[in-house]
Amino acid sequence: MEPNSQRLVRLKTCNRREQQFLSLLRGLAAGPGWRSQSIYEFRQMDISAEDCFPFVHLVETIRKVTPNFSLLSPLAPLVSLDELNLMTMLRRASTKRSTAEPTGDLGFMMPDELSKLFELCGNILRNSDIKLSVRPFLPQSQIEGSQMLTDSKQQIDSRAMRRATVISTEALSPNIRRIKLSSNSFAGISKNPPGQWIKLFPDFEGDQHAAAQASGPVGRVYTIRDFEEPENVMTIDAVMHGEGVVSNWLRDCRPGDICSVAGPRGGFKQIGTEYERMLLIGDETAIPAISAILEELPPRIDARAIIEVASADGTQVRVPRPSDFRWLRSDVLGDDIEHAVIGEATAWCSHRRNTYVWAAGEAGRMRALRRALVTPLSLSPAAVLTVGYWKRGDSDHRDAAAG
Ligand SMILES: Cc1cc2nc3c(=O)[nH]c(=O)nc-3n(C[C@H](O)[C@H](O)[C@H](O)COP(=O)(O)OP(=O)(O)OC[C@H]3O[C@@H](n4cnc5c(N)ncnc54)[C@H](O)[C@@H]3O)c2cc1C
Repeated sequence: MEPNSQRLVRLKTCNRREQQFLSLLRGLAAGPGWRSQSIYEFRQMDISAEDCFPFVHLVETIRKVTPNFSLLSPLAPLVSLDELNLMTMLRRASTKRSTAEPTGDLGFMMPDELSKLFELCGNILRNSDIKLSVRPFLPQSQIEGSQMLTDSKQQIDSRAMRRATVISTEALSPNIRRIKLSSNSFAGISKNPPGQWIKLFPDFEGDQHAAAQASGPVGRVYTIRDFEEPENVMTIDAVMHGEGVVSNWLRDCRPGDICSVAGPRGGFKQIGTEYERMLLIGDETAIPAISAILEELPPRIDARAIIEVASADGTQVRVPRPSDFRWLRSDVLGDDIEHAVIGEATAWCSHRRNTYVWAAGEAGRMRALRRALVTPLSLSPAAVLTVGYWKRGDSDHRDAAAG
């Protein structure tokens, strides 16, 4: 979208804290790499990766309501009137004052979903002690209807719960199990873009998980490794790490068992023509996404993959191999594994220009990797997507960078 210059003002209108906040908010909306960087930097403002979700949804929802809403790029030296009004609205929400003026302080009517998101974001700002400036709403730049716009992707309702049946299981290695799920309600899902994820909610038997489910259905995120049309069969490859309520269900499930599936969401958007190379990094949980991405990568891209596995068993899994492929075994490298992953990645990126990095795995590892790549190697934040797929010590970890 081309911002209308008459609606732009100097960035100095905002104090330094606001400028920092605004640039991160823009980053959440500016594409996967920028989003990872924003999430990484939000942590320094005491906003966790999980708490970034409502902000991501907020900007996405505003854009659906009014595609002309002027959010600039993260490094823009100006600020749009729409952005200033957005921060005023967030300030109101954070001070618990009434947020939603139905006729539209933001220049559009406010659907319920948006009011709730403002409330959530306001709470997060209050808890993180981020204080935005008091200023009046600036003249509306445009009035649009409250009707949500839809794009073709939204025709698949990613929030709907679909009942699915396990139709087959297969051990890919001693700790990775392939599960195929079938459901008529999968119609419309496709295997593209690669790396899409679903949330899987097992139908637990007996009262073993009654306590866990008392506070709501228990679900975890898995990547669509493959999707067969028109049979509507979805393949997921799950790591049996031994401690998790859903991975344990997947370890034991048999054909005929039932679960529910929400999604799909996310997925890898093909990289721009400015990139000539791609580095993919991940642990065993990222093997399905890395494999699916490699299968769809244009041949012009020179790819390298580095995959961390617990032991030689992990290397039994078949992965499409680019010319440059490397397993790193944590049973061999021990505590040096992080150092080894980061060392391999930095060595590769420092000698090659126009590289896009995609990485997923343990959240702390992903933060360390990002820290080592972006600033020290002067890579653009937009060229480095890092996603925490799980976090040591946390159940059901969520990272907004997953999309
Ligand atoms: C976008 C996305 C895609 C993903 N795709 C896949 C996929 O295709 N295959 C896959 O196996 N996983 C995938 N994951 C990771 C998966 O969602 C998590 O590992 C999830 O926590 C597993 O749920 P659980 O019930 O087994 O464990 P939880 O109840 O969530 O966690 C219980 C304990 O186990 C630990 N734990 C969780 N996962 C691991 C792990 N892998 N290794 C060691 N300890 C762990 C946690 O730190 C916690 O202490 C994906 C995650 C995301 C965000």
